[in-house]
Amino acid sequence: MAERIPEVLQEKLTRRLMFYQDIGIQLFYRDRYPRQVADVAEEITLPKSVQKPQQVKPVIATRPVPPKLDVLPMVSGPSLFEAINKIADDTLLKIRSDLGECTRCKLHRGRTKLVFGDGNSKAQLVFVGEGPGRDEDAQGLPFVGRAGKLLTQMIEAMGLQRQDVYICNVVKCRPPENRTPEKDEVETCSPFLLRQLDAISPKVIVCLGSVAAQTLLETNRGISHFRGQWLDFRGTKLMATYHPAYLLRNPSAKGEVWKDLQKVMAVLCLQGKKGPHAGKSS
Ligand code: URA
Repeated sequence: MAERIPEVLQEKLTRRLMFYQDIGIQLFYRDRYPRQVADVAEEITLPKSVQKPQQVKPVIATRPVPPKLDVLPMVSGPSLFEAINKIADDTLLKIRSDLGECTRCKLHRGRTKLVFGDGNSKAQLVFVGEGPGRDEDAQGLPFVGRAGKLLTQMIEAMGLQRQDVYICNVVKCRPPENRTPEKDEVETCSPFLLRQLDAISPKVIVCLGSVAAQTLLETNRGISHFRGQWLDFRGTKLMATYHPAYLLRNPSAKGEVWKDLQKVMAVLCLQGKKGPHAGKSS
């Protein structure tokens, strides 16, 4: 006779299934890996520290001198991404449609337009920011305000155009007064970011600022500890650098960001803009 799952586990399973549904996973095959109820219970209830350690996997080198990928200590608690598999044939269109007129978190209450992301759906390079500001909320496009203008200059200094890359954010709706997105907002929205990244499958992800970097790397460490190092995000090279808004307040940090972007350019074989102002976006 089939064993009954305790009520508390049933509730956990229900919540997890709803989460999968939210991120677009609809089908489950019960008989693919027949397991005991006890196994499932253990997986759900074991504290993170005794689960199989989630090591960041090294990326297979495609260049003669592959960049070294560092591993950061992860925050304790359940991983946002560990259970999420790539969705076969996922597309940006489908992800946008699944988001719909999203009301999954409280940020929807203050939004004018949801800011999904913009750019080349087959980009080799994706920039991930924090969340829309006032201009982005009004236009429904990422990085179109002052910080966005600086980002555009940085992209052009790399020898690219905005339409060559893809730009998106961790949260898709503007936080009130541009405050930092809260944990529940990030947890609700980031599965869609993950799907965007999986669907685009870029060669390099650049995280702009600590919210993007800490979210994707699942770390609490300050960005200054790992900025400029090659890291791994689910098999893709990730570079974290300072947010353009930070550069507007601290122009002296531009040189460090330019060094980070030059590492990205080396991996993508980009020459950069020629001329005296290359990399010196003002
Ligand atoms: N800052 C962000 O992080 N994202 C935007 O889209 C605009 C400003």
